Amino acid sequence: MKKPPALLSTDVIQARVAELGAAITRDHQDSDELVVVPILKGSFLFAADLIRHIDLDLSVEFLGLRSYGAGTESSGVVQITYDLTQPITGRDVLVVEDIVDTGLSMRYLMENLATRQPRSVKLCSLLHKPARSRVKIAIDYLGFTIEDRFVVGYGLDYAEKYRNLPYIGVLEA
Ligand code: 5GP
Repeated sequence: MKKPPALLSTDVIQARVAELGAAITRDHQDSDELVVVPILKGSFLFAADLIRHIDLDLSVEFLGLRSYGAGTESSGVVQITYDLTQPITGRDVLVVEDIVDTGLSMRYLMENLATRQPRSVKLCSLLHKPARSRVKIAIDYLGFTIEDRFVVGYGLDYAEKYRNLPYIGVLEA
């Protein structure tokens, strides 16, 4: 596999993930049992590391999203490919996303989750690309703001490849 140049090293990512976990732990002291919702597939590695830094009773419920678009562009047409297996009514939910780009996927998801009447829903995203934002999304816990580059690794893919890179790299044209 050709190795894309690193944008965020493993060490930098791990240090930030620990900080995010500590902040989430602090903010959810009054939670009965937090429901952590990793968005598949891109956030599976991030979520796996993150929950090990959340010192609370929690459960994990995966949710699969597919955003249609040409190449690396999101169209805003979003489909749930795998849904939660438990109701979230009255519960505190933490959505864990890999990257907020245009924001269209998270707008769709947050509106969808709100109809299920949780007690609270917060969003934790590893990355944010504000340059391409089309709708404003409140990210409660953000790892890194990045420039408008297509990134891969640490769970993020290009055509299903690169998810196993231990760092975040930039895909060069
Ligand atoms: P949005 O709806 O915010 O435009 O798109 C979010 C989704 O697009 C992310 O969850 C991710 O799957 C994909 N995406 C956006 N930017 C990138 C990127 O730079 N690299 C990769 N691998 N996926 C991206």
